[in-house]
Amino acid sequence: AHEGILRRQSARESAARTYARALPIVPVRARGLTIEGADGSRYLDCLSGAGTLALGHNHPVVLEAIRKVLDSGAPLHVLDLATPVKDAFTTELFRTLPPGFADHARVQFCGPTGTDAVEAALKLARAATGRTGVVAFSGAYHGMTAGALEASGGASDVRVARLPYPQDYRCPFGVGGDRGAELAARWTESLLDDPKSGVPTPAGVIVEPVQGEGGVIPARDDWMRRMRDITSARSIPLIVDEVQTGVGRTGAFWAVEHSGITPDVMVLSKAIGGSLPLAVVVYRDDLDVWEPSAHAGTFRGNQLAMAAGAATLAYVRENRLAERAAHLGARMLAQLRGLAADFPCVGDVRGRGLMIGVELVDPVEPPESAAEAAEAAEGGAGRPRPAAPDLAVAVQRECLRRGLIVELGGRHSSVVRLLPPLTITDEQANAVLDRLSDAVASVVA
Ligand code: PMP
Repeated sequence: AHEGILRRQSARESAARTYARALPIVPVRARGLTIEGADGSRYLDCLSGAGTLALGHNHPVVLEAIRKVLDSGAPLHVLDLATPVKDAFTTELFRTLPPGFADHARVQFCGPTGTDAVEAALKLARAATGRTGVVAFSGAYHGMTAGALEASGGASDVRVARLPYPQDYRCPFGVGGDRGAELAARWTESLLDDPKSGVPTPAGVIVEPVQGEGGVIPARDDWMRRMRDITSARSIPLIVDEVQTGVGRTGAFWAVEHSGITPDVMVLSKAIGGSLPLAVVVYRDDLDVWEPSAHAGTFRGNQLAMAAGAATLAYVRENRLAERAAHLGARMLAQLRGLAADFPCVGDVRGRGLMIGVELVDPVEPPESAAEAAEAAEGGAGRPRPAAPDLAVAVQRECLRRGLIVELGGRHSSVVRLLPPLTITDEQANAVLDRLSDAVASVVA
């Protein structure tokens, strides 16, 4: 069955297939971190539905919540009508939101993908401000429709200015650290303030607190606070895309809690649906300028997703899984940094909580200029080596051979990403690290 299914799907499915190319598996059963294939093979799943499965596959509380709705005879499809299931989800969602934000917030249910919620957020900011342009950051990923795609670095007719996103390893200014973040913040300020910059005051600034698809790049908290100050001072709505970072993933329930900022708009999806499709935008109530139907969608009322989502949010909150993600993530990062010390092809290890990236680079040191040698001698940032997407693909393949599913990301697809469920045990985390280390060792052997 396994081979036949793979063959038929690759013959019949579109060339736009992505995950299925690198992961030729046929999942038939799954529980927690583990997936079982049609051929009896077993895998530890650190892709987790692209970061969706905060509680892993088929968590009992999620299944129970879904069964309860099924057994109750409630309608499964309710457009945007009010229901007890929706009321319970909204109540739990507002309970988890940062208090300063939740007190004056409205939620809008969107077509069930993160992309649609991004689209709604961008349209809302444009409607609320009467302005058109949007500021996004280099390396961002916000989705695949025209507006979201443009904010991700694609092409559409929505005008988006892309400004530098600070990072240590491939700092756009070559300095990293506080100084790199400061330079990135000043760049944003000067572009917004210079009438000749071609960036008239935008309708909104959209930012990921940790760039996920962009290669797991956590923003510094002080830079996030600067973005808050810069946008507040100019009355520009700050849209925080927490589609991937939300629900405990980064070691706080919402990643904005790390910097303590209060956004104007939050875009939420993935884990909020407890593995079923659900996406919402939450925003300051005075931005709610929509006319009815200004942003609609048939599938806004998925009751199973709301029930699964409410159960997930409550479980993460009650069991303090964000704290668990912070502790375990710090330990995994520390161990992976040991890997970087052992293998020159591991250029960087970074992340926050259980959102972890390992960047593969060319293991051969390029010839160093005299100036760089002097800088390195003074403890400077040094020059990152070229990204090595081929090595990353090889590591992913070797991981799969060892029963570990990982995804790649980053601008050059050179970053191995780990997004395990927040319920992963210590022993399972050790098994993940062992298999990844073996895979890296095998590709450089
Ligand atoms: N924003 C971010 C930060 C994401 O990571 C993603 C998906 N990876 C999206 C938006 C788009 O979500 P979806 O794929 O559900 O449309």
